[in-house]
Amino acid sequence: MRYVVCIKQVPNTTEIKIDPKTNTLIREGVESILNPFDAYAIEEAVRLKETHGGTITAISMGPAQVEATLREAVSLGVDEIILLSDRKFAGADTWATSYTLAAAIRKLGEYTLILTGQQAIDGDTAQVGPGIAAHLDIPQTCFVRKIENITSCKATVQRLMEDGYDRVEMKLPALISVVKEINVPRLPSLRGKKNAKSVELTIWNADDLALEESMIGLNGSPTQVLNIFSPKH
Ligand code: FAD
Repeated sequence: MRYVVCIKQVPNTTEIKIDPKTNTLIREGVESILNPFDAYAIEEAVRLKETHGGTITAISMGPAQVEATLREAVSLGVDEIILLSDRKFAGADTWATSYTLAAAIRKLGEYTLILTGQQAIDGDTAQVGPGIAAHLDIPQTCFVRKIENITSCKATVQRLMEDGYDRVEMKLPALISVVKEINVPRLPSLRGKKNAKSVELTIWNADDLALEESMIGLNGSPTQVLNIFSPKH
């Protein structure tokens, strides 16, 4: 079994500041952290590995500083880390982000389950997980609060709903996005911290993924942010 966890580095604040000229996030001067929802995705993958065996690969798209967040994932139990980094990836909307992540997962070869957080605390769209599944043409279930059962070809999961939950049976490989009700993430272990320092970081750029420039970054983003504002109360 191979579990792939997509993780995002986000600013450590919910007070997101936007550059009024470019309509992009201002990241300067703000500490970066692992997207809190992604800690639950990592923990769930670690629990699956502990129960069923296998390996966990964490992938993140972002600038070089994301290496620290990927190494933190190793301290929590991830085995292998891949950074997708290229200036050509900059300015990606959720379509181009999920397209790029899907291309990297395809390059990995066989996998059993892809796990994402329910949403990122900065972009907040919750679109990247479903986007990856759509690009890979695999089944997906969002807002998963429990994995009831998993084999190498099938999983039964509970999808959190406002008035209870749905039980969904999925063929594998598939993608799930997880909610915080799914588990309680553990703290890094001493062994994990040691591994985090020594594990090899794989870096892939657009050429490594054989991606055309028209499909990635700003060029590959069909949406444009025209204006961002706080609603008046
Ligand atoms: P969500 O969909 O909320 O994240 C869900 C989950 O997907 C996460 O928990 C994580 O598991 C996974 N995930 C998300 N992002 C990544 C990642 N990078 N690597 C690995 N896993 C990930 N940003 C810019 O910097 N410049 C822009 O010009 C720009 N334009 C945008 C235009 C539009 C219309 C929109 C909607 C967004 C734009 N963004 C831009 C933000 C950018 O699209 C998002 O940062 C990115 O696509 C992820 O979306 P999200 O933060 O909403 O993640």
